[in-house]
Amino acid sequence: MSTIQHRISLHMTNKQPQHSLDLLEYDKKHVWHPYTSMSSPLPAYLVESAEGVYLNLANGESVIDGMSSWWSVLHGYNHPKLNAALIEQSTKMSHVMFGGLTHSSAIELCKKLVQLSPKELDKVFLSDSGSVSVEVAIKMAFQYWHSKSFPNKTKLLTIRNGYHGDTFAAMSVCDPVTGMHQIFDKVLMKNIFAPAPTISFHEQWHENELDELKNLFKHHHHELAAFIIEPIVQGTGGMRFYHPAYLKACRTLCDQYNVLLIVDEIATGFGRTGKLFACEWSEISPDIMCLGKTLTGGYLTLAATLCTSEIAKTISHGEAGCFMHGPTYMGNALACAVANASIDLLFENNWQQQIAFIELILQKSLLPLKAQSRVKDVRVLGSIGAVECTQAVNIAVIQKRFVELGVWIRPFGTLIYIIPPLVINEAQIKHLVKAISTVLKEDNCFFK
Ligand SMILES: *Cc1c(COP(=O)(O)O)cnc(C)c1O
Repeated sequence: MSTIQHRISLHMTNKQPQHSLDLLEYDKKHVWHPYTSMSSPLPAYLVESAEGVYLNLANGESVIDGMSSWWSVLHGYNHPKLNAALIEQSTKMSHVMFGGLTHSSAIELCKKLVQLSPKELDKVFLSDSGSVSVEVAIKMAFQYWHSKSFPNKTKLLTIRNGYHGDTFAAMSVCDPVTGMHQIFDKVLMKNIFAPAPTISFHEQWHENELDELKNLFKHHHHELAAFIIEPIVQGTGGMRFYHPAYLKACRTLCDQYNVLLIVDEIATGFGRTGKLFACEWSEISPDIMCLGKTLTGGYLTLAATLCTSEIAKTISHGEAGCFMHGPTYMGNALACAVANASIDLLFENNWQQQIAFIELILQKSLLPLKAQSRVKDVRVLGSIGAVECTQAVNIAVIQKRFVELGVWIRPFGTLIYIIPPLVINEAQIKHLVKAISTVLKEDNCFFK
C-alpha cells in the first residue's frame, strides 16, 4: 500500500495500527511527560514524523504545529539544510569534551552570538538547556560578587508571573504561586519579588508603575546579586507583553544600585517578538543574557549564557581562579553545527520579513476574536498571538478538539496561544485561528 492509501485507510477506519497502540500503552504506564500525572495521564499523541509546519500523527492525521514545539522550531521540521549540517558534523565528530579541547562549530557559534547580541556581551558559556543556562547566569552573578568581596550580595530580585526553568535556582525566581513554592519551601532559595508590570506593550507609560520596584531596590540592594527578568514577554506566566520603558528602568535601577541585570531571552530570542532579541525594544544591554529554545532551530538541546568582559575578568581573578561550572556535553558539536545553520537560515530567509508577515496576519485574523463572548483579551506581538479567555480551558477536551480540527495548540489555564514556525503561510495561520475561533464557541472545551 502506498503511504497515501495507507493514510486514507487509517483515516477512514480511524484506527491506529496495533503497534502504535502498544507503544502508547507502554508510554502511559512508564514514561513521564512534562507536568503530567503518572497515575491518570491525559492521552499523548504518537508522532511518526514531521515536515515543514506539520506533525504527522500515527493515526494518519497531520496537524499544523502552532506551538513550534514549545518555541523551538523556526524553519520548520525536517529542513534539508539543518539535516545536512547535522549529517556533515556527524561525519567529522558528534562530540568531544570541551575541557582542553575546542572545535570550529562551537567557535563559529560563539562568534555569531557575540556579534548578534547587545554590544556589551562578549563572553559565551555553552550549556545543555535553558534551565541550566539560568543556573549558570545566577552562579556567575554570585561568583562575581564573591570575587569583588561583597559576601552579602546573595539574593535575587525578580518580578511576579515570571518563568525561568525547572532546576532549583531557576525555580526560586519563578512565580511563587504558579511555581508552587510552598511545596519546596524548605529547600528553595528565598528571593525577592516585585509586582508584575501592569502596563502593556502598546499602552501609555506611567512612571508610577515603578514605585514598588524602586522601593525594593532601595531596601535590598546591599543583599542583591542580580535582578532577573524575561524581556518584554512574560511567557509561561501568562503571555503578558509589558512596556519597554519598564525594562529600560530596570537597567537604570541596576546601574544605580550596583546590581547585575540578567535578561532571560530563552523564549524571546531570535526574532520572536519582532526584534532579534527582545531587550532591543528597550535599547538596553544586560550584564548577563540567557539563550536557549530556538538556538538550534528546534533540533537539539543547547543553551548559552553570555556575559560582559568585566564579569568574566572579575570571576577569573577571584578565589577559584575560574568559573565553577562545566557540563559534560558542553559545546556539543552536533548542536553547535545545527545552531550555526539555523542562524544562517534566519538571515537567508529574512526573519524580519517573516515575523512582520505573521504579525500582520495575526493582527487581521486573531485580534477580531476579541468580539467573542468567552474572550477577555487578545494580544499579538511579533509571531506570538495569545487569546486570554474568561474561563479556564478543559485541556482533555480542547486538546482532542484541536487535533480533530487539524492543529496542534496546547493551551494552559485561561490562555490559548500560538507561536508558529516562521515558515508558516497565510492559509496555515488562518487555519490555526479558525480552530481557535471554533473551540471558543464550544462550552465543553472550558470549565464553568
Ligand atoms: C523554557 C524557558 C526556560 C527553561 O528552558 P528549558 O530548556 O526548558 O530548561 C527558561 N526561561 C524561559 C523564559 C523559558 O521560556
